[in-house]
Amino acid sequence: MKYDVIIIGAGPGGIFAAYELMEHRPELKVAVFEAGHPLEKRHCPIDGEKVKSCISCKSCSIMSGFGGAGAFSDGKYNITNDFGGTLHEYIGKKRAMELMHYVDGINLAFGGEGTKLYTTAGTKFKTICIQNDLHLLDASVRHLGTDINYIVLQNLYNHLKDKVEFFFDTPVETVKRLEEGYEVVLKNETHTCDKCIVSVGRIGSKWMERVCKELEIPTKSNRVDIGVRVELPAQVFNHLTDELYESKIVYRTEKYGDRVRTFCMNPKGAVVSENTNGIITVNGHSYEDPAKQTENTNFALLVAKHFSEPFKDSNGYGESIARLSNMLGGGVIVQRFGDLIRGRRSTPSRIEESFITPTLSATPGDLSLVLPKRILDGIIDMIYALDKVAPGTANEDTLLYGVEVKFYNMEVEVDENLQSIYKDLYIIGDGSGITHSLSHASASGVHVARKIAGV
Ligand SMILES: Cc1cc2nc3c(=O)[nH]c(=O)nc-3n(C[C@H](O)[C@H](O)[C@H](O)COP(=O)(O)OP(=O)(O)OC[C@H]3O[C@@H](n4cnc5c(N)ncnc54)[C@H](O)[C@@H]3O)c2cc1C
Repeated sequence: MKYDVIIIGAGPGGIFAAYELMEHRPELKVAVFEAGHPLEKRHCPIDGEKVKSCISCKSCSIMSGFGGAGAFSDGKYNITNDFGGTLHEYIGKKRAMELMHYVDGINLAFGGEGTKLYTTAGTKFKTICIQNDLHLLDASVRHLGTDINYIVLQNLYNHLKDKVEFFFDTPVETVKRLEEGYEVVLKNETHTCDKCIVSVGRIGSKWMERVCKELEIPTKSNRVDIGVRVELPAQVFNHLTDELYESKIVYRTEKYGDRVRTFCMNPKGAVVSENTNGIITVNGHSYEDPAKQTENTNFALLVAKHFSEPFKDSNGYGESIARLSNMLGGGVIVQRFGDLIRGRRSTPSRIEESFITPTLSATPGDLSLVLPKRILDGIIDMIYALDKVAPGTANEDTLLYGVEVKFYNMEVEVDENLQSIYKDLYIIGDGSGITHSLSHASASGVHVARKIAGV
């Protein structure tokens, strides 16, 4: 089949590209190929009872399918250039903010109305943080929550399904250049298009790497963030989360000068495991619906690791550490902060006797056998620093789940239109290495669609 535009991947980047194309050029013949399932068929089998940990499904419903990695995410749309990607470096700060606000407007129109927009503007916590050598980053956060995020996606799908051709459970094997346009190769057939938008997200990182090699598109990669997910009673962070919902706090360690940051804060949320290319790591989310909320708050503490020549495989480094935790714990490891500090492993009975009920069934163990000293020292320092602005963070029973790894896709060389070195081949969203968040990925989709539509 010949299409005007083929979009690879139906995550936020791909969805918003399709949406915006149809807003401006409804006559275009557009197809979206998605490796994962349709939204209603996405289901992670982990139920905490029969299936306690990741069974490595062929297509991971947490990471793949309509809605992408974003579908069961907490739906925190951070409207900021301070974190979540470097889209602004390509398209300019003003345009990036405009597009993120535009995406916010669509989310509201498609089911997100009534959700809260939190902001750091004018908060007293900025001063309190600085007084304790911590730095609160600026942002506005629209919290849709996992439940409302799902409804917005459902509505967007219903809006698009008769305008755009969606193919689910249809992984694209590769993309080839033709004299005019591109050939998109599936298992048993091929399709051609004039313009191709690649939006394969984090789960598509290895695929992206291979396709860039095949097409000789330049890439670079040198960063990975490694750490743990912290879970504690919601009261400890209430004063911050009630006002800001998500606080992005950065600390620079005294000894190594490494940056440690809080990431993906989920008030009254749940810790979950995720499977990226067979490696099980930890993540978290929360619901807007009070009935689904828990008594715990979770967030990640990540140490940024930048490598210099000659080492190039930063993701490989992160993967090796995650594999080590999988080897020792069969999946995610959980340890009480008190046990970590005492240099002993957590055991099932120590976890059971503690005052916090874990929201993820993980293997009690010893994170000091997994994380390099430099990273572990950074995390411990940060926990003590946070204890000054949120007393209770460094309590004995605070749970640390490991490991959380934030893999950065290698950065693909694109121009200000997010067009690769080849005309009409666009690389957007997390797959491009430029965005790492819902709002930046969605905005990148809108940006490219407008370029293609000529508006
Ligand atoms: C549990 C969890 C919670 C999160 N919470 C938040 C949050 O609260 N706020 C936030 O800003 N970010 C959050 N994130 C990150 C956010 O989900 C991503 O930044 C965002 O989804 C990126 O969008 P994308 O479209 O670039 O890629 P993705 O959402 O990853 O979508 C890419 C899609 O492409 C498909 N694909 C890959 N390869 C192929 C192929 N070869 N052929 C066909 N299809 C393919 C995949 O199946 C996938 O569906 C979370 C992530 C996870 C996993």
